[in-house]
Amino acid sequence: MVVVMSPDATDEDVAHVVARVEGVGGEAFVSKGVVRTIIGLVGDIESFHHLNLRTLRGVADVHRISDPYKLVSRQHHHNRSTVWVGPAGMQVPIGPDSFTFLAGPCAVETPEQTLEAALMAKAAGATILRGGAFKPRTSPYAFQGLGVPGLEILADVRAATGLPVVTEVVDARDVGIVAEHADMLQVGTRNMANFGLLQAVGEAGKPVLLKRGMTATIEEWLMAAEYIAQRGNLDVVLCERGIRTFEPATRNTLDISAIPVVQATSHLPVIVDPSHAAGRKDLVVPLSRAAIAVGADGVIVDVHPDPETALCDGPQALMGTELRELAQAVRRLPPVVGRVDASQLVRTG
Ligand code: PEP
Ligand code: MN
Repeated sequence: MVVVMSPDATDEDVAHVVARVEGVGGEAFVSKGVVRTIIGLVGDIESFHHLNLRTLRGVADVHRISDPYKLVSRQHHHNRSTVWVGPAGMQVPIGPDSFTFLAGPCAVETPEQTLEAALMAKAAGATILRGGAFKPRTSPYAFQGLGVPGLEILADVRAATGLPVVTEVVDARDVGIVAEHADMLQVGTRNMANFGLLQAVGEAGKPVLLKRGMTATIEEWLMAAEYIAQRGNLDVVLCERGIRTFEPATRNTLDISAIPVVQATSHLPVIVDPSHAAGRKDLVVPLSRAAIAVGADGVIVDVHPDPETALCDGPQALMGTELRELAQAVRRLPPVVGRVDASQLVRTG
């Protein structure tokens, strides 16, 4: 941490800052310039925060140098992590060595629709099934998901297809029941900063897929991941799903640069959701190609056997030609950037 003194700060002002820092066990290194003095602090950064240094006389600014997140930072955990998803015998990796394709319906509607979507996903090369039983909808009048019966459908479809399941949990009170049925818990964009929910999924004993809040900075997103990690769960996969900008042509703007930025600062895997970013099926394949090229650890895509009748997000769901194109892209492109398909690394033992 660096404290910048104002040009009119006196020697007493500087001495007071130094005394306060030393009072909590820190060290202060004073560097006097012609116009300004700066003070470098070494020690426990949290104890410095409690000093409210910005309120002291003569202090112009305080800069943090280390990351505000610790457990998810690469500063102390240099190698990028792999998160394994699924029960023993069918564990799928998401991490730096592989490319993982996750697909499924936006929402679980019926057993038939879910099974059909899962079979489409599997045939296209997906190794993890997505599908929402609890849906976080903007409108209280929109389909809210089947709830617990939807979780049971997902568990049946996992048994039928051998695909581990990721599904969203919207309310901290449901974390237990969702964790009983699913292999990975999703926290959606609308709940990224629901700190009680983050702590609850941090204690659930299952990997977590943490979507970026649609108005969250990368640092806020990583701080949300830190909440989960702080509860003892480092099996967190980040998901870039588009952010709100001034551009109305797409539902959200996919922040493709977030992928390498996150990978430089955090060891956690990071995947891309082109479906929820674009909100339009015609953009899903090009954005998936971009995600692979930029080095994402996977993509998660909406598929539906009959998008016209979908109860949720039909316009972005793939089937037929587009799904075949996507299958081709996720088969051919990852090897070009040095990635092995996750299906080749599945732990079956
Ligand atoms: C979803 O994946 O079903 C979903 C609702 O996504 P998001 O939270 O990114 O909108
Ligand atoms: Mn959706």
